[in-house]
Amino acid sequence: MEHYAFTLHGALDLLDSGAVTSVALTESVLARIDAVEPQVQAYLALDREGAMRQAEQADHLRKIGQGGPLCGVPLAVKDVLCTTSMPTTCGSRILEHFVAPYDATVITRLAQAGSVLLGKLAMDEFAMGSTSENCAFQTPNNPWKIGYVAGGSSGGSAAAVAADECFASLGTDTGGSIRQPASLCGTVGMKPTYGRVSRYGLVAFASSLDQVGPLTKDVQDCALMMNTISGYDPQDSTSIQLPVPDYTEALLEGLQGVRIGVPREYFGEGLDPEVDRVVRQGIAMLKEAGATIVDVTLPHTDYCVAVYYLIAPAEASSNLARFDGVRYGFRDRTADSLIDLYKRSRSQGFGDEVKRRILIGTYALSAGYYDAYYKKASQVRTLIKDDFAKAFSACDLIISPVCPTPSWKIGDKADDPLAMYLSDILTLSANLAGIPGMSVPCGFNAEGLPIGVQLQATHFNESILFRAAYNLEQRAGVAGKKPVFV
Ligand code: GLN
Repeated sequence: MEHYAFTLHGALDLLDSGAVTSVALTESVLARIDAVEPQVQAYLALDREGAMRQAEQADHLRKIGQGGPLCGVPLAVKDVLCTTSMPTTCGSRILEHFVAPYDATVITRLAQAGSVLLGKLAMDEFAMGSTSENCAFQTPNNPWKIGYVAGGSSGGSAAAVAADECFASLGTDTGGSIRQPASLCGTVGMKPTYGRVSRYGLVAFASSLDQVGPLTKDVQDCALMMNTISGYDPQDSTSIQLPVPDYTEALLEGLQGVRIGVPREYFGEGLDPEVDRVVRQGIAMLKEAGATIVDVTLPHTDYCVAVYYLIAPAEASSNLARFDGVRYGFRDRTADSLIDLYKRSRSQGFGDEVKRRILIGTYALSAGYYDAYYKKASQVRTLIKDDFAKAFSACDLIISPVCPTPSWKIGDKADDPLAMYLSDILTLSANLAGIPGMSVPCGFNAEGLPIGVQLQATHFNESILFRAAYNLEQRAGVAGKKPVFV
């Protein structure tokens, strides 16, 4: 097997045994990127020289016994995380050449662990979207079928991992943007509990929902990435001061005595029959592994899309006010007054979906409408959170589909924002409730497109997700299957 095709833990074993150097590993991945990137289009920026320098440094540290837990492994991150070594565009013209003055905490942690940063990955503009088609620069393809969406908004992060263009990546999830692309591209993806991972240096979309997390080739890799990025950060006032368990320990436990809830609302109208079949097979596998399956109900599920698409745009309209043509990025040079400068810079710098959200969000927050929209949505958000609290009194985790359908053709929903929003119906609630969620590959449809299963648990109980995910992965037998490029 070529070096780039190994898992993250597999690559670490190779490095530990001396069978490969980080320099050779990095060269292998760069050659893979050269071979498949014309089709996949996952990278917005690639730092070849920087990566090779870091690889040499990693080999040196390893030799003198000072390598960290991810020493020498090449990774890549969504282009919404601030990096000093490369631009951070957020997939937007308004930040096209912007280079951040500091690194995000998660970038620093990955570097301290010894990993090599290859580049920045394509995404929907400011993480708004479900297919990455809202990226101002390029649309990543699904490695399983070129011409099909990789999902979004962390589409580049999922595509790069699925195509072996990095050993693991980071994405962000505000309403499903890690779990949904992971499901559509056949990778593992985890949205940690709100507060588990630092958001310092993550360009904010909706601050009460955003969370950084890993996309990986298997469950063990996901645990390794979570071990590195999790934990309190004094720079992020919403990060929580709680000890971080070693997530790899959870992999070894069986499922005896674990109660898994199946929410009936998540298997309703509009669910693709093949997705339904794969998820039900997943449930059967967990039962075989010793879990008890129980029915649960999340009665306010129908309101998730409406609530999310008020709260997220409201927060976005406020967060994106800082992109004014003065402080960062793109500036229109023809304006003749300050107001005109704001208007022209923002009109040209932002794409259609971002403008749509700013308009909706500003409206929902404005005097006279605030009570009817933003306040009401916040109240219903509490009901959605309570639904989970009740459901988790009867079960330890909840299983469901991630996305109602497998991947679709690029362009199919691009002109229909409502159809796009509706595809998020199964992932939004975890963000509204702040709980952790995970997508685990479980099967394929007849066309060979991957289908993932979603697992959700109570706040800060990522370990039980890893436990169930690992058991599922062992039984599903899909880990290690690769897309073929023609
Ligand atoms: N698809 C959702 C949206 O468009 C979620 C995006 C995300 O999680 N960043 O807002």
